[in-house]
Amino acid sequence: MYRTHTCGELRASHAGQTVTLAGWVNRRRDHGGVVFFDLRDRYGVVQVTVNPTLSREVLDKVANVRMEWALGIEGVVQKRPEGMANPKMATGEVEVVARDVKVLNPSKVLPFMVSGDNDLPDENMRLKYRYLDLRRERMTRNMILRHKVIKFMRDYLDERGFIEIETPILFKATPEGARDYIVPSRLYPGQFYALPQSPQQLKQLLMVAGMDKYFQIARCFRDEDLRGDRQPEFTQLDLEMSFVHRDDVLDLVEGLYNAMIPAVAPHKKIKSIPWPKLSYREAVERFGTDKPDLRFGMELTDVSDVFAKSEFKVFKSALEAGGVIKCIVAPKAAEMSRREVDALTESAKGLGAKGLAVVAVTAEGLKGSAAKFVTEEEIAALKSKTGAGVGDLILFAADERAVVNKALGGLRLILRDQLNLADKDVMAFAWIVDFPMFAWNEEEQRWDAEHHPFTMPQLADLDKFDTDPGSILSDAYDMVCNGYEMASGSIRIHRRDIQNKIFQMLGHSEEAIKAKFGHMLEAFEYGAPPHGGMAPGIDRLVMLLADEPNIREVIAFPKNQAGRDVMADAPSEVDPKQLKELHIQFRD
Ligand code: ASP
Repeated sequence: MYRTHTCGELRASHAGQTVTLAGWVNRRRDHGGVVFFDLRDRYGVVQVTVNPTLSREVLDKVANVRMEWALGIEGVVQKRPEGMANPKMATGEVEVVARDVKVLNPSKVLPFMVSGDNDLPDENMRLKYRYLDLRRERMTRNMILRHKVIKFMRDYLDERGFIEIETPILFKATPEGARDYIVPSRLYPGQFYALPQSPQQLKQLLMVAGMDKYFQIARCFRDEDLRGDRQPEFTQLDLEMSFVHRDDVLDLVEGLYNAMIPAVAPHKKIKSIPWPKLSYREAVERFGTDKPDLRFGMELTDVSDVFAKSEFKVFKSALEAGGVIKCIVAPKAAEMSRREVDALTESAKGLGAKGLAVVAVTAEGLKGSAAKFVTEEEIAALKSKTGAGVGDLILFAADERAVVNKALGGLRLILRDQLNLADKDVMAFAWIVDFPMFAWNEEEQRWDAEHHPFTMPQLADLDKFDTDPGSILSDAYDMVCNGYEMASGSIRIHRRDIQNKIFQMLGHSEEAIKAKFGHMLEAFEYGAPPHGGMAPGIDRLVMLLADEPNIREVIAFPKNQAGRDVMADAPSEVDPKQLKELHIQFRD
């Protein structure tokens, strides 16, 4: 038997028992002839003392043992002498006095330390030796948390009548707005499968099939540019329900999260229950973005009316051009240095604004770039409208509405971090609803689906298809938290005529519609039920719950930021024989 106990479970109550343990050497110390190991497994760490009266043979084996060797230990659990307990270790009251030590497998010298609080090595190095990197306590903790999240989801949904159904990975293109990964077929030369960008079509077809409540811990594949914190493949809790309206879906998912977070991450506080619901328009007007961080205020206020008669050129010309003037109030930031304000102005420009006007409200009066242009009357109106007071810094943007919202929305987040306005242990969930159905694609001069093409337009807007598609709202919704989009979903189209109309709007020819989506359209003609669902992302959720800075820290084997697996070295070239079988030849 390799072990009777795990390293993490031994307590004072085990004193006197003979145990066998197996694990890795976390640390080794030699103290006046006695050797101590900290032996570690997934469950924890325990101190092992090697008794110097052991046989020569065992002592010789121990003499060579170094960090991360895999050992088997047989020994007796002993309470540590008075004053020697280590309250920082869960097993700190005891030690195991070894009677026998077996080397199960030695370790080469490590490329980096995995125990202790050393600085992390370069990320590519960590990913190259991911199997060692995952031995870190922190990484092990992240994997366990991820497991708990997924298990909670499964159990919660199972209790509510959902069934988990797997859907194919080799399938046909399912548009979610990204490029597809495609897989050549050996049996059908010149033909390809596509990896699903999501199981969207299949889960809808499961509703046509009468499955009623479906979920899956689903892998999604999207060949996107590697901006920001993205992975070519990621995991979603994909779910779909029949005979539901929007709020049936939202209530289900909100209930799941409100139950799950206290159970898996009790140090996190959900800011408000029930979660606020904001329309897309409202979110953008108040926070400058459709994924607002609601942990703090600092809302965007439209002050165009306050400055209707302003002679300040920047304000005046923006209003004359049909734009708006909006501001945010940075609390207790009036003392910000010139250099800091200049940096904010640069950020505003980076976000698309022409510039930034600022007014600092101080005990001695107004200061800042726009101070001399603001009249007494205007400042009084401004204070009453925004609640700004002495000590605050007011930042203005004046331009087209969309430019102003984007710039101030971005500055709001920069100031959040600079002024430390958001508590990392608070989770401010909200629903964003009433999204526009279409977004204009300037490059290709056509409409794109804002969510995806299977989303139901709001029925009241159906007659705007030919007159004003940009104003059509859809029955799509997003879950947001702390400035991140955590999930998207929608009530779906279940009627062939509406679905066809949407495909046409998106610029697909009749032929292309038939070739790509004929199976969906046909399915809708066999009594497809009204249905809807959503797909919360799992990587980002676990990242937030684990207080990690990026999703790679909560994925066992992620690609690096350049989209490569540096451990196995993928993507990589394949055998010419394989290419030949696939009828693939490369051209320069
Ligand atoms: N398939 C969608 C996505 O991956 C989610 C949904 O509409 O259920 O974003």
